[in-house]
Amino acid sequence: MKSETFTYEVKCRSCRSKFNVQLFESHDKNLFMVDKKDWYCEPCKKKYFAEQAEQRTKAQESSGFPQITGTDKMISWAVKIREDLLKKVDYLQKSLTFGGEAEKLASEKGFAGLFEEWRKETEAKWWIDHRNMTVRDISKRVAEILNPPA
Ligand SMILES: [Zn+2]
Repeated sequence: MKSETFTYEVKCRSCRSKFNVQLFESHDKNLFMVDKKDWYCEPCKKKYFAEQAEQRTKAQESSGFPQITGTDKMISWAVKIREDLLKKVDYLQKSLTFGGEAEKLASEKGFAGLFEEWRKETEAKWWIDHRNMTVRDISKRVAEILNPPA
């Protein structure tokens, strides 16, 4: 049996290396977790996040968005935020209805302006600072771009 130190040895699902984890539930619960959970060692986790970030960067580059600069951790977070914000834009655009062709063109112009602004934001920090931007905020910004405050 394991000791009462709450440290358990698990095997990384990806590279099969063994490593220790500390768990804080009852011993029975812990053993269940050790058995059932998919464990990944730190290097594999890091690699996984780096790959995710790279895939997101590539997908966003194909929509004309530049590379983000910052630390690896910040970049990984920022590209996830940018992905979420682009999804919000998509959602917003799909929810819009127009009274006519002129309205539709104006809206397209507004979103193009928004993307132009966003494409200039290459620092991870900017995206992290704007992570709580809602669909409503985006809609407001598009309206401001179309009708700049005097
Ligand atoms: Zn591993």
